[in-house]
Amino acid sequence: MYTDLNKKVAVITGGSKGIGTAISKRFGQEHMSVVINYNSDAVGAQKAADEVEANGGKAVIVQANVATEEGNKALLDAALDNFGDLDVWVNNAGMEIKSPTHELSLDDWNKVISIDQTGVFLGSKTALTYFKAQNKPGNIINMSSVHEQIPWPTFSSYAAAKGGVKLFTKTIAMEYAKEGIRVNAIGPGAINTPINAKKFADKAQYDQTVSMVPMDRIGTPEEVAAGAAWLASSESSYVTGITLFIDGGMTLYPAFKDGQG
Ligand code: NAD
Repeated sequence: MYTDLNKKVAVITGGSKGIGTAISKRFGQEHMSVVINYNSDAVGAQKAADEVEANGGKAVIVQANVATEEGNKALLDAALDNFGDLDVWVNNAGMEIKSPTHELSLDDWNKVISIDQTGVFLGSKTALTYFKAQNKPGNIINMSSVHEQIPWPTFSSYAAAKGGVKLFTKTIAMEYAKEGIRVNAIGPGAINTPINAKKFADKAQYDQTVSMVPMDRIGTPEEVAAGAAWLASSESSYVTGITLFIDGGMTLYPAFKDGQG
């Protein structure tokens, strides 16, 4: 446990399932107070909130679309109304659409960019505005992906969004470093969450994904949540502007793993 996280207040977007739920639970174990955002799955968000409370934290759930300014403002308001402050903002919500790029509709492109990239901008802006107004050091964590670095044919909107998140994170980390505001990203590899449920249900696709991971296994949402807790805590007090890859080595050019090349 990171004792400095005790009673700190966090907003986590997209917390009704997957990595967002795991981060909520982990923050509950750290005895934090958590605003758990969901878009449509209130039942999943409530389950996550129950887990936070069962582990010693406090939680409220809030419906909001992260692609809107009103949605992000509602999350900040919930943190202030229920817990009186904001310390950590996790821009986790995300989605992906598979399509050959020449067939990708403008609507689908805009949908992915508005959630995965614009949502990160709006969440960060909301948190930064509060941190600046209070003159307090704050902490922002953006959920990127190994695909901020590894090209991903037929997922060009997702790769473009995550590539944007990478440099946005580094830029605002530099912009607000003097104020003591730390901004980092996490780059998960292949993690067992609902976003991958269909793919991993197919044994051939599951095995193929595992073959791209030097550690030879899929990661768990809890392993990503452990990175979020470390970045949120003062144990990482001199760390800003990085992407912490939690990927079993997926970014290490695994095609070379048996000495080929
Ligand atoms: P998931 O599908 O299980 O969860 C995504 C969450 O985002 C859901 O709760 C969903 O409701 C929410 N969301 C989507 N659109 C939203 C909106 N407009 N407003 C509010 N919430 C919205 O996926 P996950 O695997 O838990 O992914 C979480 C993050 O991790 C995403 O940003 C994803 O890109 C990233 N990531 C996941 C993996 C992986 O292998 N699972 C790998 C790399 C990056």
